[in-house]
Amino acid sequence: MTERRSRLEAYEKLFDIDALWLALAEGHQGQRKAVGQSTEGRTLWQIEFGDSSKPTFFLSSLMHGIELVSGFALLETIKTILSEENRKLLDSVHLVVMPVVNPDSLHRNLERLHADKFSCVRCNARGVDINRNFPRLSPHDSWHPFAGSKNPWSMYYMGPHAFSEPESRAVRSIALDTRPLVSLGFHSCGNLLLHPWSSRSEPHPRIGLYTELGNAFVRALPGEKYEVRQARRWYPTVGDLDDWLDTRFQTMAFTVEVSKPRLHDNLRLRKLFDPYAWMNPANPESACRNVAPGVVSLMQRALEVLPKRLPRRTTESPLPLAASA
Ligand SMILES: [Zn+2]
Repeated sequence: MTERRSRLEAYEKLFDIDALWLALAEGHQGQRKAVGQSTEGRTLWQIEFGDSSKPTFFLSSLMHGIELVSGFALLETIKTILSEENRKLLDSVHLVVMPVVNPDSLHRNLERLHADKFSCVRCNARGVDINRNFPRLSPHDSWHPFAGSKNPWSMYYMGPHAFSEPESRAVRSIALDTRPLVSLGFHSCGNLLLHPWSSRSEPHPRIGLYTELGNAFVRALPGEKYEVRQARRWYPTVGDLDDWLDTRFQTMAFTVEVSKPRLHDNLRLRKLFDPYAWMNPANPESACRNVAPGVVSLMQRALEVLPKRLPRRTTESPLPLAASA
């Protein structure tokens, strides 16, 4: 068996990801509802747990369908939050989950990899990078090749305009409905916890709060440590989800870059140029078990500090809050 196919064995359950989430919802009084249809007509699902009068935590994954490990990391995280030991946390929150933001890309990758073909499909079925399809904070483009491109052939194509895609509109409808206090989007890779801004280089006015919650995440990780970083210091992005949630709803919006490629695992030239191999560890379990306690700890800290400092808003607030203590 080729290395590509054997690595996929760890991820093949993702073919049935909707059923996995439905079973989890049914076992924990979760509510599943459709929030749209993907470009190719697949149902976009939202799953809710807990009391909707409590602060909303919005968790999502597989916005980029080649980042397979992100899907398992979110599943492991929600299972951990639903476990008996975290009952107190669950009683205090409204969990809103979008397990597969970009199902067309996920299935395209799984089918190609299953056929032992090279695959690195990041965008939706129309070639749009969903994480460049949110409203931009600045009219200026960035020179950086990953920041977002107007070229439809680019892997970072931002689409004809903000919310041009059904997948980003589904995320928007969840955000408008629930106005999340905190958002955690699972991606891969880098062992990083990123926060806004990704489009501006000046420090975010709420850097103190972002760092405080980020440190709670890092301290609780049992394994490899993550670095908390303003996303712009990783690379600039224009039109990403976190900047939009942060400015539109005052959401504390994080991106979890799950796992870190091991150079010695990927030294063979063929793998070095195969993003699938370095974005998705051969053994995803340990990377996923590592992040779950971090997210629990971040959520607990958020409940301690945010409701006092960030009253939930019902109207759009274009201005970021002043710097926190
Ligand atoms: Zn991603």
